[in-house]
Amino acid sequence: MTISLPALPYARDALAPHISSETLDYHYGKHHQAYVDNLNGLIDGTPHADADLETIVHASAKAGEAGIFNNAAQIWNHTFYWHSMAPNGGGAPAAGSAIAKAIDDSFGSYDAFKEAFATAGKTQFGSGWAWLVSNNGKLEVRKTANAETPLTDGVTPLITMDVWEHAYYLDYQNKRPGYIDVFLDSLVNWSFAEENLAKA
Ligand code: MN
Repeated sequence: MTISLPALPYARDALAPHISSETLDYHYGKHHQAYVDNLNGLIDGTPHADADLETIVHASAKAGEAGIFNNAAQIWNHTFYWHSMAPNGGGAPAAGSAIAKAIDDSFGSYDAFKEAFATAGKTQFGSGWAWLVSNNGKLEVRKTANAETPLTDGVTPLITMDVWEHAYYLDYQNKRPGYIDVFLDSLVNWSFAEENLAKA
């Protein structure tokens, strides 16, 4: 099986002005594509060659195959990130929705969640990701470094935000906190979180 680059769930200019088409040209078209190309080169002729992506993430993590894991996990994380955003997204989830209720139950309020998620993104030193996950029904905010993914921790990811510089540098330069605010206020896709929560 050859791993392929999944289609973006929207047009490359659909997140503008919050995230520009130029950023998506590089981030999706170059970075995400490069992880796919690298992984296909690395798994060719190995026992991973016939596996699906999620299986490769788990197996390479377990085996300590860093090169394969880094590329496979980055493919998975980026696909999850594109779906974690939507044109006209952002703000609190609809009152009364399952995800709104789960956030209130786990964090006390949406504002408390927002503060925890933004802090995770701001305090991830260097490259990485901020996550909202379901841990046996309890929602938690986590952060991971580089390609690390909570997928290998036995929890269910609900939303992720890429805080590698390539995610925001063209639009926000060094201002990661500005990008994080925009992610939460204008991009986060609560419908996707709710679909993932239903599977948790
Ligand atoms: Mn990225």
